[in-house]
Amino acid sequence: MNDTKSRGRIMIIGAGGVATVAAHKCAQVPEVFREIMIASRTVSKCEAIGKEIKQRYGKEIRTARVDADNVPELAALIKQFQPDLVLNLALPYQDLHIMDACLETGVHYIDTANYEPLDEAHFEYSWQWAYQEKFKQRGIMAVLGSGFDPGVTNIFTAYAQKHIFDEINYLDILDCNAGSHGHAFATNFNPEINIREVAQVVRHWENGKWIETPAIIEKGSVHFSFDYPVAGPQDSYLLYHEELESLVRNIKGLKRARFWMTFSENYLNHLRVLRNVGMTRIDEVEYEGHKIVPVKFLKALLPEPASLGTGYTGKTVIGNIMTGKKDGKIITRYIYNVSDHAEAFRETGTQAIAYTTGVPAMIGAMMMLTGAWQGSGVYNMEQLDPDSFMEALNKYGLPWHIVEHEGMPDEV
Ligand code: NDP
Repeated sequence: MNDTKSRGRIMIIGAGGVATVAAHKCAQVPEVFREIMIASRTVSKCEAIGKEIKQRYGKEIRTARVDADNVPELAALIKQFQPDLVLNLALPYQDLHIMDACLETGVHYIDTANYEPLDEAHFEYSWQWAYQEKFKQRGIMAVLGSGFDPGVTNIFTAYAQKHIFDEINYLDILDCNAGSHGHAFATNFNPEINIREVAQVVRHWENGKWIETPAIIEKGSVHFSFDYPVAGPQDSYLLYHEELESLVRNIKGLKRARFWMTFSENYLNHLRVLRNVGMTRIDEVEYEGHKIVPVKFLKALLPEPASLGTGYTGKTVIGNIMTGKKDGKIITRYIYNVSDHAEAFRETGTQAIAYTTGVPAMIGAMMMLTGAWQGSGVYNMEQLDPDSFMEALNKYGLPWHIVEHEGMPDEV
């Protein structure tokens, strides 16, 4: 269905680090993405991306100012440009509004992060899953979480389920950033979203229920040193991450699912101090007659994630270790990608975290525009066929490896 109607017209919403990469990657595949619009709150950022793309690839892209929280305004822009697909690379707060505008205009939807309410640091899929019937009835498709994690990690799991295992029982997703940006403290993607994510109580799935452990900055947080390919041993912390919620629902036979992320002692110490002095609060406080939200003020002081690319060195290593059964035997496989900050900067002017998110966002959009993924309703990535997506990862800058592995150490 998607391919017969598609004119290769995409509207990207947001103009941060991830949107910059996605716009570059779409411009590199003009046979699929024939017309591109980038629309965001600050139009000068869209224009700067457009100018860079014109210089690098000779391709004109359209730009527009839009407040994606204003559904009538966004729907009017969609009606005017008539895209086949809206790629949401704004913030998780905008997800439901953009889905509403897609429903009104009958346009497919894809994003990289699940909805979060502004006033509560809590993210879960229930709000977006609630759109299932409405999207079905409208005959349009929503694909949720087409970044790296969520996104590629879901696709790695679906691929392993399809080609390697009869049943996956243990899943550990390990996300390592062994890069150095040279700042005393910075976050690699939107600081507000990042800090809300890492300050949360941790959850993982075990034997049919969620187990809670302390947040990464608290006493008693769970961590161990994992020896990553290329990057070597890195302290890795148990963290709740949104793909766990859909994977435990869609991958049958999982007994345990966990997510780990590397953090340096320097990052954790900064975060502890910021939390202790109240700078990570998400509620409004009175300041000299104004109401301010401390974490939003902090965002204004920290370096823009999109600007971190200059001088960023080192690698990211993200992947899944999976143990399960094949023909009655227990086997373990590790599927992972290694990306390089400096190479990402040379190609797109941003660092590898934005790169590893923006490339899968483009690939997910490509799957929908070419008709490789079709349907009506709301889908998580592991519910869709992984093969063309895995091929595209190799082709468009995120090559992956599959190796045998001894499995996770018993003590963690
Ligand atoms: P940035 O903060 O750099 O960019 C967000 C952009 O959205 C900004 O350009 C911002 O505008 C724009 N925006 C915010 N509110 C609105 C609004 N109401 N209307 C229109 N535009 C708006 O974020 P990142 O690029 O770092 O991250 C983008 C998304 O990617 C986030 O949702 C993040 O959670 C997700 N992500 C997913 C990952 C994954 O692996 N799945 C990994 C990393 C990020 P302005 O410029 O005016 O502020």
